[in-house]
Amino acid sequence: MSSRHSPSPTQIFLRDYPEGYQVESKQVDPGSTFPFPSPYEKYHCVSEEGLASLNVMRPAFMSIPGAPRIIEGTGLDMSVALRPLATPLPGEPAVPVLETATPIRCRRCMSYMSPFATFPSGAQQWACPFCGRQNPLPDSHAFMVETLTGRVRQDIPLDQARPELRLGTVEYACDAVKYRPSTTWALDPSTTLPKVELGSPGGVSHLAHVSDPEHPACASLLPHASADVPSSASENILPVLPAIHAILVDTSPRACVSGLLNAAVQGLSSALASMPDEDRVCVVGYDTVTRFFDLSASVPPELVCPDADNPVCPLPLSRLAPPLSECRATLVSLLQSLQHRMLLNHQEEVARSQGVLPPPLACVATAALVAIGEALEPVGGRISMVLLQRPTKGVGAVPLRETAGVYGTVREKDLIQPATPFYHTLAESFADHMVGLDVIAVGPDPLDLASYAKVAQVTGGEVKYFSGRDQASGVLDSVMLCVQHMVSRVKGYAGHLRVRTSRGTSVSAVYGQCKERGQETHLAVLDEDMVLSVGLNVGAPLPPGSVYAYVQSALLYTTHCGRRRLRVSTTRLQVVHDVAKVYKHADPVAYTHWLSRCALHRMQVEALPVVRDELGTSIVTPLAYYRQQLVTEAESRKLILPSSLQILPLLVYALGKHDALHPTRQPQEGGVITADLRVAEAAWMNRVGPCELVRRIYPSFYDMTSLSPSVGTPIGTEDRMALITPPPLRPASSLLPSLPRSLLMVHAPPRLYLWVGQEMDPQVRMGVFGVETHEEVPEGTLYIQNQTDRHPLQVVATAETLRRRYPGCNRCVVVKGGTTRGHHVRTLLAEDSSSIDKTYTEFLNQLHKAVHRRIQML
Ligand SMILES: [Zn+2]
Repeated sequence: MSSRHSPSPTQIFLRDYPEGYQVESKQVDPGSTFPFPSPYEKYHCVSEEGLASLNVMRPAFMSIPGAPRIIEGTGLDMSVALRPLATPLPGEPAVPVLETATPIRCRRCMSYMSPFATFPSGAQQWACPFCGRQNPLPDSHAFMVETLTGRVRQDIPLDQARPELRLGTVEYACDAVKYRPSTTWALDPSTTLPKVELGSPGGVSHLAHVSDPEHPACASLLPHASADVPSSASENILPVLPAIHAILVDTSPRACVSGLLNAAVQGLSSALASMPDEDRVCVVGYDTVTRFFDLSASVPPELVCPDADNPVCPLPLSRLAPPLSECRATLVSLLQSLQHRMLLNHQEEVARSQGVLPPPLACVATAALVAIGEALEPVGGRISMVLLQRPTKGVGAVPLRETAGVYGTVREKDLIQPATPFYHTLAESFADHMVGLDVIAVGPDPLDLASYAKVAQVTGGEVKYFSGRDQASGVLDSVMLCVQHMVSRVKGYAGHLRVRTSRGTSVSAVYGQCKERGQETHLAVLDEDMVLSVGLNVGAPLPPGSVYAYVQSALLYTTHCGRRRLRVSTTRLQVVHDVAKVYKHADPVAYTHWLSRCALHRMQVEALPVVRDELGTSIVTPLAYYRQQLVTEAESRKLILPSSLQILPLLVYALGKHDALHPTRQPQEGGVITADLRVAEAAWMNRVGPCELVRRIYPSFYDMTSLSPSVGTPIGTEDRMALITPPPLRPASSLLPSLPRSLLMVHAPPRLYLWVGQEMDPQVRMGVFGVETHEEVPEGTLYIQNQTDRHPLQVVATAETLRRRYPGCNRCVVVKGGTTRGHHVRTLLAEDSSSIDKTYTEFLNQLHKAVHRRIQML
């Protein structure tokens, strides 16, 4: 078998949906000429009314076995990729906010009313699709009964029925639910969770939430909560306050001179313009001391906390982060002058370094983090930290752990764990107080990112890592975009998520940047980009006659402006009794996403070689079972894959080559995978959705040498306009020989490169870059001076179109062949081999053998 004949996503069209699903390929980006079948891209929605969008809930299998024995021996896991705070894609309905409606819940299983509820006895009762219980409809809500029956009565149009009866995702306003700071929310009183212990010492999960019993939404949401709270505690109850987004920036001489401080400040400045008045944002600087700014003054004075061992924030929140309505102008002027003010602070060091990057000084990064984290405790919030140096002074200082000899040994595993137990404690404390951490880290110096990544992982935060700090690598632009995106995207705070499933099934695990507490998942912070992976377990036969099984997620969270909301999303899976149908309805992209999360989970406890082995063998049993049980007539030795899973081996192979899971790389392949890089890539993988994951591990390559006239021209309707991009190439080793002569765009979100081969046609080079030699081609962010000729404009248009397809994608960076960074692009050829890895063909052959060995064991 040669790789040319092996399955590849550019060749195969697939995907069967169970009956009853009308899947429509809605192209969100109509300019895309992407040849992949719709499941690979997110522009594809289930058009049926009542189901949550596939962008919100994407099952790895669109059907579910009616009994555990049906998938016994197959080795398949059921799962759903869940984006709890998804923004609707173009063409999808907006999420309605029901301001006055009381959420109606099943009295037995506590699931929420959904489009799948039935009304067997008219308007008096509704049957819960999850457990089958017949619940009375609240008769005090006559309006509701009337409209509810609209769903049953055919003469009332569906679009006039209540949103929760026709849409897969709805939101309820729960503002009257009040809470006391430093607490844990009880989303579901029926869980084993929160027993109210007001004022318990130690700060460990001392909860205290109450509902306002007068408010029907609360009574329904937390029916027992008010009974649990001692009345004497009522004076402690405060309304929900808007959470605060703190930007923690490195203000050291090094950060000033390298331009990093300016990049972060610019990112925040450009985000500010579009932020509403009720948002609360603050800036905190750190170098050898922590610097706070009093935004209540018109010229914000700087308050310094020099104590790195017992750091405190010297300002109350009202002065540290007033609402933007009160301090927008002050904040803007602070950002404009920040770089200048910091350069004045560091005059001596900057002068001494004589124009080159000043040497690193003591860094109090963690002390600053602790100070601002404690300050945010009363209201919760998000800290986005820009990091250039390892913390070396004060609380949380970490020693340099990374040495040349440690890679490839058993000790390497320790490097992806926090340096000291301090960070485990910090992570727990942040999670308890609903404070989340994002890290934007800039290499190449070792940063011990593993320590911060732990805090981000537990609190729902994000980790971004840029390995070079120079302008040539485009890092400053990327940092700017990254800060802008982090601040301006749709965000939530103090999230409590509960996933419920039909009788007979249960949730086996929730993987992602979150913290599991009993049956609830806590997300100190969350945003529209975050995706969790929910494992489903079929533990008992489903009730006889079940046609569908249901999955519902309920997320209680605070919006950026302090509104408490409950978002409910529901989907259903077809119940099947034939294992062949389970295979038939598989979604290889969503299944690969689930396998990636399982691998990351195992990485917490196992060494990398073990995790990689497990990943490789995780698909052997399903394929062996299929070959033995479901293929009747075929050549005896041939590897036969179910049509829906043709590309699963390729995706698993490509997953194993991702920086988070790849064991090592040679210098000619882009250099060693440092602990920081691995940690950041693992954190990225633990947060992205199925589409982004697959696009990253199986990047698209576009030939930019000569472009058809249609490339770069607009297509689509006015509200969904896009530009035509060239057709992608298969990222296989067949591209290798021509690389030195190529001009390629490589899209592996969040990265986007323009590869410039050293032997490129001089005419094309001249046409696009206006330079005569390869050496003269400018590295760094793609910038084209020639704004009149078609070809360079098409290159820029393609780059911008591709970038906008994925939220948080970096700007296009020029990478030149023959440089160290150029080697990195070779590793993105997903189907190519690297010195440690097998080729795709070898992998398939090995898989083939393993499958046959397994068949003999069955
Ligand atoms: Zn129920």
